[in-house]
Amino acid sequence: MFLRIGTFVGYQALGAVAGWLLSYRADSHVAALWGSLLGAAIWFVLDGMRAARTLRCLRSEGAFIDQRNSGVWSELLARAGRLYRSKDKARAEAENRLQDFLSALQASPNGVVLLDKAHCIEWCNQTAATHFGLDLGRDLLQNIGNLVRDPGFATYLAARDFNQELLLPGRHNTPSRPVRLSLQIHPYGGGRLLLLSRDVTALERAETMRRDFVANVSHEIRTPLTVLSGFVETLQTLELSDSERADYLVLMAQQASRMQSLVDDLLTLSRLEGSPIPATDTWTSTRDIMRRLEQEARALSKLICSDAPAQQLHFDCQFDGELSGGASELQSAMGNLVSNAVRYTPAGGQINVMMCLLGDGQLFFEVRDSGPGISSEHLPRLTERFYRVDRSRSRETGGTGLGLAIVKHVAQRHGAELSIDSKLGHGSTFGLLFPTMRVRATQ
Ligand code: ADP
Repeated sequence: MFLRIGTFVGYQALGAVAGWLLSYRADSHVAALWGSLLGAAIWFVLDGMRAARTLRCLRSEGAFIDQRNSGVWSELLARAGRLYRSKDKARAEAENRLQDFLSALQASPNGVVLLDKAHCIEWCNQTAATHFGLDLGRDLLQNIGNLVRDPGFATYLAARDFNQELLLPGRHNTPSRPVRLSLQIHPYGGGRLLLLSRDVTALERAETMRRDFVANVSHEIRTPLTVLSGFVETLQTLELSDSERADYLVLMAQQASRMQSLVDDLLTLSRLEGSPIPATDTWTSTRDIMRRLEQEARALSKLICSDAPAQQLHFDCQFDGELSGGASELQSAMGNLVSNAVRYTPAGGQINVMMCLLGDGQLFFEVRDSGPGISSEHLPRLTERFYRVDRSRSRETGGTGLGLAIVKHVAQRHGAELSIDSKLGHGSTFGLLFPTMRVRATQ
């Protein structure tokens, strides 16, 4: 500031001296005064030019440097430049933060839609676009009510009571492949709305499966329990002969064993679901597996066909090696396939059980029977829990409806594939294909 006053006074003084020196004919005082005024005017003109240059620089938001400026104008420019650069940096940082935030929302597995006061879409992520069938380029700033055409959604939006979530059928919902969405709106700053959407199809399916499972288990347990308590009541209230009493006790023992099998299978399934994948370094001999299967099958067959022609059972172990995994799991899975063949094949029928090594090193286990066969519409559902084609035969022979579900689980845990090939009236073939990593020749 002192420099500025100094130069102003200097220009005036120089003007006054010049006026005084040049006034050799006129009054030297008046000339000095005019000279001083002229000096001041020149100073103002030069200063105005610097101010104009400074203003130009400020307006252009460029480099904020003008080599021709000096003093207060140059300092003003430099300070404005620093301020501008720091503001610019802060703005860039805020923009980066916003982009990071939007990227996080974009990565969310849930749909996120930001709506303004008039319910127009300000922003939405890709998941929400997929849920509602929105086009991110075209539908921004459109009213969501015009895009999501479900009447339930319109009522939910209009009621403005967002405490509850809303369940809607998804965009690609079909009766065979239901898709369910859960929506919830959260109001925020200045009447805006945050709309969150979630695909709850798998959750609802799991919940339905859980409900069905509990209902099935209750039903399966209640039936033998009702029969058992009926017998107990009869034994308590009626005068029975010894032979009648013995008959009743046999029937009661059958019902108790049915409940026992059911509980055993349920425990097996729950163990399979909760335990880690079986180790690859625990080996079981294929010959031992086949020997045990044969013993069990012959005993079961004798029991079932006690008063009828015997079934013809053939066991052929073509691979003398070892299979890795849970020994009891493997035995129980293969045992289920063999016992099904024995239980569903009528007396006199034929059952072939075979194990062999394929050319690519995989192990193939196959159970083929000449039983009633299964019609094709049942095949995809056979491994569902409690799914039965022949309900009465299953019950008569002590089936629980869980055998093939256990086989499927064990196969999955060992990286094996379960194949089912059957035609009504032409017998059935069940196969298990084990990967090479779980097979080795005997050392
Ligand atoms: P279950 O304990 O009732 O045998 P599974 O899960 O082992 O239950 O089998 C499911 C259904 O598949 C059975 O109820 C039966 O109707 C059918 N099934 C399984 N194996 C055979 C087979 N070898 N021949 C004919 N039907 C079979």
